[in-house]
Amino acid sequence: MIDLKIGRKSIWAAVVLLLTPAFGGQDAPALRTFHVPGVALEFTCRALQPGEVILVKSRNDPTVRRIDVRLRTQKRRFDFDAGTGTALLGIDYGAKPQAYFMEIGVERRDGSRENLFHKLVVEPRDFPQTKLTVAPGMVNPPPEEAERIRRESVLVADLLAAVSPSWLGSGPFVSPLPGFEPFPNFGQKRIYNGRIASTHSGVDISAPAGTAARAANSGRVVLATGLYYSGKTVIIDHGLGVFTYYCHFSKLRVKRGDRVAKGDIIAEVGSTGRSTGPHLHWSVRVLDSRVDPWSLAALPLD
Ligand SMILES: [Zn+2]
Repeated sequence: MIDLKIGRKSIWAAVVLLLTPAFGGQDAPALRTFHVPGVALEFTCRALQPGEVILVKSRNDPTVRRIDVRLRTQKRRFDFDAGTGTALLGIDYGAKPQAYFMEIGVERRDGSRENLFHKLVVEPRDFPQTKLTVAPGMVNPPPEEAERIRRESVLVADLLAAVSPSWLGSGPFVSPLPGFEPFPNFGQKRIYNGRIASTHSGVDISAPAGTAARAANSGRVVLATGLYYSGKTVIIDHGLGVFTYYCHFSKLRVKRGDRVAKGDIIAEVGSTGRSTGPHLHWSVRVLDSRVDPWSLAALPLD
């Protein structure tokens, strides 16, 4: 959220935000598609930049048994016996803009195998910056909360590391608060109370307290509980290492283990945890990459 304890700079920041065109998936974003010569895969993304997601689709090729794709630490396998498939790769928002080599291993039905390296140039991205004022305990948490915070961060890391082998989603991802204007604050550099800097790992969508928030895609609820920083929180596993993460709710309407369909109500907007007013913080994980939710929502998933 932006700082609502008004100063001239904050008002100006709010005006700039209001004048910035929304990129909350309302406008069809331009996508680029590329291929690697001789490889039966199609790659689609908004941009090759930190925080972006790449959709990889396999195409029919009767000569191919299997293709393995590796980008940095992320590995994906396409088994052509199972028909055509889809996978997602993420470029973490903290990734250095530079050239990376995507490694592609193609195993053919005649037993031959080739390894290719495809250069991906990750372009620089300018992330916004802001100053925020929050309760002092949210910048320097009281020592008695340290154990809770540590426990919660281990719990969330364990959940996000458990990759479900099949895709649970259904078509493209959508906004959890359809009709509400998102702030363009993914990857924002934040200075809390003039001191500690952090990076905003998701996007904020402002809505009145109590507004129903919805699952951005179908999946399984793996967490529905109160956490120190993110308040009442829901995490949905969509399979293949893709998770959506929703924070600061006033009331949870699902529980751990629930199956949800895209658009199902999961909780009500609130301001619990480290928050300056009622809003939804929405973030996305693709394997170990923290990515822009709107980059995921832009992709034409089947
Ligand atoms: Zn946020």
